[in-house]
Amino acid sequence: MADMADNESLYRRACEVTPGGVSSPVRSFSSVGATPYFVARAEGAWVWDVEGRRYLDYVQSWGASILGHAHPAVVKAVCAAAVRGTSYGAPTEAEVLLAEAARRRVPSCEMLRLVSSGTEATMSAIRAARGFTGRDRIVKFAGCYHGHSDALLAGGGSGVATLGLPGSAGVPAEAVAQTVVAPYNQVPVIDREVACVIVEPVAANMGLVAPAPGFLEGLRTACDRAGALLLFDEVITGFRLGPGGAQEMYGVVPDLSTFGKVLGGGLPLAAFGGRRDVMELLAPVGPVYQAGTLSGNPLATAAGLTVLGLLDDAAYTMLSGRAADLAAMLTGVFEEAGVAAQVPVVGSLMGLFFADSPVVDYDAARASAANGVYARFFRAMLDRGVALPPSPYEAVFPSLAHTRDDVERTADLARAAIATL
Ligand SMILES: *Cc1c(COP(=O)(O)O)cnc(C)c1O
Repeated sequence: MADMADNESLYRRACEVTPGGVSSPVRSFSSVGATPYFVARAEGAWVWDVEGRRYLDYVQSWGASILGHAHPAVVKAVCAAAVRGTSYGAPTEAEVLLAEAARRRVPSCEMLRLVSSGTEATMSAIRAARGFTGRDRIVKFAGCYHGHSDALLAGGGSGVATLGLPGSAGVPAEAVAQTVVAPYNQVPVIDREVACVIVEPVAANMGLVAPAPGFLEGLRTACDRAGALLLFDEVITGFRLGPGGAQEMYGVVPDLSTFGKVLGGGLPLAAFGGRRDVMELLAPVGPVYQAGTLSGNPLATAAGLTVLGLLDDAAYTMLSGRAADLAAMLTGVFEEAGVAAQVPVVGSLMGLFFADSPVVDYDAARASAANGVYARFFRAMLDRGVALPPSPYEAVFPSLAHTRDDVERTADLARAAIATL
């Protein structure tokens, strides 16, 4: 092992052995013009890089570490599970407990199946919807990200947006021929050829964009009229906005839902679920095939169960309070500095757009990202030891480990950062 690794040389070595030096594109910091820090360890609200620098972390594995990094209860559960074996290829009690825990919180999920990534969850849910309806077409919204499966990359948010890609090379035209992309926050026409409408009920992969009043309700009505299924991609919002996610917050019940991030407590785990009549089409009960060697992995289910168990009402109140405080303080800082900014908050999710007016869709999110202020602000904050998401298209994720002091420190550092721009 090399002693005294530093970010620059690790990044150079990484770029030799993996494209862009990273295992997932946004981590390369290419859209914010910086060298990524290589994490050595993390605890609570903080990450330390290989050079020993410490950052107040608002990425938190894109919200997966909702309790903060290396929460003692999660560490203990994962270690205890590892001692019992890391993967069996046979069912476990923990999978039953996790599915039951999820269903108690999200009653629309009469049945669930565990998978290992959000990408798998959305891809499989769409297959189930197509199998159920016997239709091929799907409708998604520009700026929503549903993972990197072929059919869902069209008009994608997150990394697709970060890198300014219209979709992706390597995706056959036929693979997206049945994907219709509509503008977020407008109810599109849904006809009887549509199998399902997939939506982030709160869009958190183009910055943060809340659903306009009536949008989710309108989708529900339009789907019902056309006999199409409504699929809420709650990979970010699930178990984060409250026990029942966005569907509970907005009171709109989807037919199918997908979860990830928080549900796995920072380990590779995700799930899709919904109506029993749809889910019972899955193999081995029905004809829709879906499977996974590591699905329901024992380390991941142990982490997920621990996290869900700790997310009580007090935790959600505290999380939303932190996000609201942070947004209010940052808004004050930007106003003081005369910088046009929008700092939307939904529950414990926060967004940050350098824009004159509220951002309601992907076009507006792109216009705001294009002014380059976010990238400069990101670098100025990173220099001061605050790790914001390395892209203007991602949400900001305060965790339960972020204290009121951390939030105040963030605002103070933002004041100093903004003064240098
Ligand atoms: C992160 C994300 C996904 C993809 O999940 P992966 O685990 O990265 O495959 C899908 N949908 C939404 C809304 C996400 O935020």
